Amino acid sequence: MHAFSLHCYNPPHCRVLRQRRQVPIKPGPMRKEAVISSMLSVVIPCFNEQEALPQTHLRLLAVLEGISECDFELIYVDDGSDDGTLELLRDFQGKDSRVRVLALSRNFGQPAASTAGLAEAAGDAVVIMDADLQDPPEVILDMLERWRGGADVAYGVRSARQGETRFKRISSTAFHRLFNLVSDISIPLETGEFRLMDRKVVDAFLAMPERCRGLRGMLSWAGFRQEPVHFQRPPRSDGATKYNLSKMLRTALDSLLPFSIAPLRLATWLGLLSVGLAMIGIFFALIQRIVADVWISGATALFVALLFLGGVQMVLIGVLGEYLARIYREVQRRPLYLVKERLGFEFEDQARRSSPATQS
Ligand code: UDP
Ligand code: MG
Repeated sequence: MHAFSLHCYNPPHCRVLRQRRQVPIKPGPMRKEAVISSMLSVVIPCFNEQEALPQTHLRLLAVLEGISECDFELIYVDDGSDDGTLELLRDFQGKDSRVRVLALSRNFGQPAASTAGLAEAAGDAVVIMDADLQDPPEVILDMLERWRGGADVAYGVRSARQGETRFKRISSTAFHRLFNLVSDISIPLETGEFRLMDRKVVDAFLAMPERCRGLRGMLSWAGFRQEPVHFQRPPRSDGATKYNLSKMLRTALDSLLPFSIAPLRLATWLGLLSVGLAMIGIFFALIQRIVADVWISGATALFVALLFLGGVQMVLIGVLGEYLARIYREVQRRPLYLVKERLGFEFEDQARRSSPATQS
């Protein structure tokens, strides 16, 4: 059983991956002869993608086999699918040694699945993309161009989004704007996970131990030279989105809260505001009593004020709870994911077993 945690993401693991890059990779059935100078890994998290995957796999191979100057590996991460996704991936792997499959023990969510793939990637550059062809494989060529030009990250920017609901478009833009408004860092608008990262960026990302793993925020925080690559985002090729409203909200909060304490500050400001309003109220009531000898009465006003203050307090306790829950998750130090099956990693696994550095 393999798991990602601060303790198990460590140099021996990386050394094994690096060793693999120095030995010739077993050629796949359709590999072109080429002078191999670097290695490209493509990581694809998949959750119930049996409809979309055959087409995605073919298009990816067509694009990657056209790149003569670097070898490649495809790392599919099955994020606990309950359809035929894993069987399909086993089939891809059985026919092509450049394909590697990591099956997680259950559905851990896209951020964990992406991290799992990145932790296994051996490439000098690593692309991360969705399985549904909404991140067109052809864009990888533009990203590689940027990488060769010196960029450390080439991130996809959606210049048009076809086939997405109005709600999804508006909520995604609102999230990006809110993120940039309340956090100390900024993330580019209209971006997803689709991007190419240099090895040093991948290492920096994996060295961050947190469990709430919003890739966009974490990479913005990491810095490096990042360049946009614009592309038209087509509709999903097949199947349906894997995000319902609550999953979308959870992922958005997981991305936002680690980079902003603005919601906590809001509590202080709202508290100060209500104290200020109460002081004004008391002041006027006293004036009326002293000058006009009138006692302000009114159970309704009192009831409304109580309800208002009670509501504000409950909301703020909820905000605290969101932070507390995430802190709790961090201190529990559970692995981010568990792996139940690994296919195509035999070289690493054998090297890991025989390397003295990994036998402690
Ligand atoms: N995904 C995943 N685990 C999940 C949800 C999604 O690995 O729990 C993968 C999914 O298979 C796809 C990518 O994440 O490759 C993006 O998901 P989706 O296309 O459903 O998101 P959308 O494009 O609708 O935002
Ligand atoms: Mg999609």
